[in-house]
Amino acid sequence: MDQEHPQKRVAVCGGGVIGVCTAYFLAKKGASVTLIEKSSVACAASGKAGGFLALDWCDGGPLSSLARVSFNIHRSLAEELNGPENYGYRPLTALSLTVTESQTVSSGSKTSGNSNSLLPSWVDGPAKRPRTIGSTETTAQVHPQLFTKTLLNKAVNDYGLELVIGKVENVGVGEGGQVESVVLQGGRVIESDAVVLALGPWSGKFEMLSSIFRVSGLKAHSIVLEPREADAITPHALFLSYYPAQGGKPMDPEVYPRPTGEVYLCGMSSEQELPDDPETISGDPASIQVLKRVGRTVSSHLGEAGARVKAEQACFLPCTDDSVPVIGEIPGINGCYVGTGHSCWGILNGPATGAALAELVMDGRAGIVDLSRFSPARFLGRRKNL
Ligand SMILES: Cc1cc2nc3c(=O)[nH]c(=O)nc-3n(C[C@H](O)[C@H](O)[C@H](O)COP(=O)(O)OP(=O)(O)OC[C@H]3O[C@@H](n4cnc5c(N)ncnc54)[C@H](O)[C@@H]3O)c2cc1C
Repeated sequence: MDQEHPQKRVAVCGGGVIGVCTAYFLAKKGASVTLIEKSSVACAASGKAGGFLALDWCDGGPLSSLARVSFNIHRSLAEELNGPENYGYRPLTALSLTVTESQTVSSGSKTSGNSNSLLPSWVDGPAKRPRTIGSTETTAQVHPQLFTKTLLNKAVNDYGLELVIGKVENVGVGEGGQVESVVLQGGRVIESDAVVLALGPWSGKFEMLSSIFRVSGLKAHSIVLEPREADAITPHALFLSYYPAQGGKPMDPEVYPRPTGEVYLCGMSSEQELPDDPETISGDPASIQVLKRVGRTVSSHLGEAGARVKAEQACFLPCTDDSVPVIGEIPGINGCYVGTGHSCWGILNGPATGAALAELVMDGRAGIVDLSRFSPARFLGRRKNL
């Protein structure tokens, strides 16, 4: 960069997968990027998600091309950044199954085994109707926190990204509606030619965004288990229809073995108030207990006798009113962009969102994905008196 063509200064706010992917692609395209995170990178949903990726599960809906492009960027990033070693990238098989909990399941010491040939041998609980819903061509996984941190480190080390820990309080806008700066709690001002707001569910608490559209947080729980016989666990993600012993509606927990030998289980979501500080979010004990019960019902390797509990946690999905992410320039503010509302597919769709936003900021147009469906302008006129 020379004096006639100064580097574009871009502040990316929010160190989840959406902010980090955007910062990575911006820095790679030559921007001078400052990433601002109020707590720690990938401290929220982006560190506690399953990390499941699917090529075609969003087909037929508004996310179809975003998801397909993103699945393929994940594949090339995994080659470029040694994803298999650095963040547990691997293709895997996905199965759907029906599991009915019995009153007597308590210790996870089952011996009966399952004779269905689709089921891996470690799924030795009462599983029925297994069906393959994803193959190693169409489904894969990453460890979401390691993925986000690997991308960040690459951007810091190779493309000069600067990470600042601080809470963004405001975006400074000059006369003429052009973004000029980001203002942090405590008064620090970071001058910027463009700003990207990637605040996940906290977008709903940021006035500049909440005056245009709503983002709500859906709390979801997860546990991470360390099975003693890790070698017995094969790369099969399980999507359950789970019937609890006491009756009631079936639940839909998910089980993701990881290449480290750990097994991640998630589910149990509910609308709850989003705390300001991501570090204070913890799991509700009853929901965590249900996930443990799911584990020991599905497999003797995942019960108390077969596995150690490594983590019990919760986090918030960022959800929009029309269930479609918001990606694009904020109407009426030149140079201010947003990326949020990715709900249950933010790890999958982070790379395409980041690459498209980087093109929009640097070139004025996103070529990699058509962003028109995601524009925040679709909400104009819908929100009043906020
Ligand atoms: C249980 C569970 C399982 C999931 N599994 C999958 C999966 O398998 N596959 C998949 O694709 N997706 C999955 N998801 C969804 C995925 O985790 C989210 O869509 C994604 O992480 C959202 O990323 P984000 O960057 O928008 O938000 P977040 O990860 O919430 O990041 C937002 C960041 O912004 C920071 N921030 C907020 N306000 C400010 C401020 N004022 N100043 C500075 N920083 C601020 C926060 O501290 C936080 O770090 C799952 C989600 C959950 C809850």
